[in-house]
Amino acid sequence: MYSALPAKATFHDLLLACDRDLADQVRQGRCLICGSALHSSNYPRKPRGRLRKLGAEHDLRFSLCCARHGCRKRKTPASPRFLGQKVYLAATIILISILREGATQKRMRRLTQLIHVDRRTVDRWRTWWRDAFTAMPFWQVARASFMPPVAEHRLPTAMLERFSSNSLTERMVALLRFLGPISGGQAQAL
Ligand SMILES: [Zn+2]
Repeated sequence: MYSALPAKATFHDLLLACDRDLADQVRQGRCLICGSALHSSNYPRKPRGRLRKLGAEHDLRFSLCCARHGCRKRKTPASPRFLGQKVYLAATIILISILREGATQKRMRRLTQLIHVDRRTVDRWRTWWRDAFTAMPFWQVARASFMPPVAEHRLPTAMLERFSSNSLTERMVALLRFLGPISGGQAQAL
């Protein structure tokens, strides 16, 4: 059932809508430095692991910057679609990592073909969840919100299982929003 999700355009549209909401929230605020209004200043990314049928707006990282000339301080909202500096979409990284745990070889092969991910990349992600993610300050704080504690060697699956909803899409979106703080923010400035 996991393998069907990244192939659905509706799932990606939902994530895009989440990103828009987050960007709108930030736009209603003011520049932290000078208090001026914030304007849209999106920038293109070239995410891998995306479906070909998705429109160009799916490659935009929503961002804002101060409207005042001479300040132009950038503010980039959290994004459920992009995971930090990684070139693959967050949903892709999570789903492939999850699939790796239970999928048959055949299904795994079909999925990696669909979104063009090779075996080495999948192994790298596994190492990332195990070593880099668990060492992040974000996780040091966030893991306390899971009771009983999640098994770190089973990330990200162990996290996804804790979001209660019958719909996999909803659970996935909840997880991606939960991971929002590590999606870049200020550090993502161009
Ligand atoms: Zn400013």
